[in-house]
Amino acid sequence: MKVHAIATEYPHAPFGPRVIERREPRADDVVIDIAFCGICHSDVHQARDEWGGARFPMVPGHEIVGRVIEVGAGVTRFEPGDLVGVGCMVDSCRSCGQCGAHHEQFCEKGCSWTYNGTEMDRETPTYGGYSTHVVVSERFVLRVPESLDPAGAAPLLCAGITTWSPLRQWGTKAGDEVAVVGLGGLGHMAVKLAAAMGANVTMFSTSPGKAADAERLGAAGFALSTDPATFERLKGRFDLIIDTISAPHDYNQYLGLLKPYGAMVVLGIPPVASEVGAFSLIAGNKRLAGSLIGGIAETQEMLDFCGEHGVVSDVEIVSGADVDAAYERMMKGDVRYRFVIDASTIGG
Ligand code: NAP
Ligand code: ZN
Ligand code: ZN
Repeated sequence: MKVHAIATEYPHAPFGPRVIERREPRADDVVIDIAFCGICHSDVHQARDEWGGARFPMVPGHEIVGRVIEVGAGVTRFEPGDLVGVGCMVDSCRSCGQCGAHHEQFCEKGCSWTYNGTEMDRETPTYGGYSTHVVVSERFVLRVPESLDPAGAAPLLCAGITTWSPLRQWGTKAGDEVAVVGLGGLGHMAVKLAAAMGANVTMFSTSPGKAADAERLGAAGFALSTDPATFERLKGRFDLIIDTISAPHDYNQYLGLLKPYGAMVVLGIPPVASEVGAFSLIAGNKRLAGSLIGGIAETQEMLDFCGEHGVVSDVEIVSGADVDAAYERMMKGDVRYRFVIDASTIGG
């Protein structure tokens, strides 16, 4: 089936309309009429080929929410009309140890990324959610609680699960001291989710103008990371640091903020590496870790939690024609706190 999308043809090329081919639904497929798709900073990194290996033409978008309009004959979990989501993955081998452990993102054969990748045949390119429709196996489709605003729910499919997963991996609970670094799409979800888990959250930001927002989002404290005194004042304070910065920065400085045995989890993926000194880790048995999105079951658990607690992203809705401008604003840290494309503005 042919569907409308917006694509970029080479790194840094402006986005423009493009008609793409989606497969005819297989027995286990769900056809989704996309309502909204979030703009993740990973879309910017990949559309600009900042990580290498980008595939063009590229239709980014892995924060998809829409309604089911058709299901294959073997689909058991969804029916037309259901509010659903699709995140960063659309398939995996379904049989390896990692898939069996519900860590499809680490599939031993390599999962199928929603865009800038291929289907499991390793030939057919995948195209993401900056588009009107998508066809996905029901195993990779998430149920979105009807109580949630669909535009605000879209970013949960990446920003939500990416911050939920490390909070759960480190068993975040009431009273924990959690620092969130970088107040953008991931950062604002980390604050909301950690606060909903009862943690005492401190927001670290380079933007003084975001202090009031940090408090409104649930942070108990706000610290300017551009002020060296911040790192003296809050030394040894935190159990967990969630680092969402998209640009190179000094990890050592933040490691100094951890309590002994505390952990810093890197989520942001700057295009260039940063050095980590051994003393930064050894003094206080600190743990420096990373975390990549989350598995499908874990994503459903996060969506259900958000449904119960009324957690959604703060979004600014943009049209398909505004994507280039939205990317430029993200590069300046000027996003409050997620751009979401209204898919009804695409094509026609
Ligand atoms: P975003 O909305 O653009 O937010 C990034 C924030 O980082 C900015 O708002 C800004 O916050 C801060 N920042 C930007 N440049 C900075 C600099 N030079 N120095 C210090 N702080 C800076 O991006 P996002 O969508 O949240 O994504 C953040 C990163 O996570 C990206 O690298 C993305 O690729 C990555 N990511 C990783 C995963 C994963 O699975 N691990 C999943 C999704 C995204 P302040 O204004 O508050 O300083
Ligand atoms: Zn993302
Ligand atoms: Zn697998």
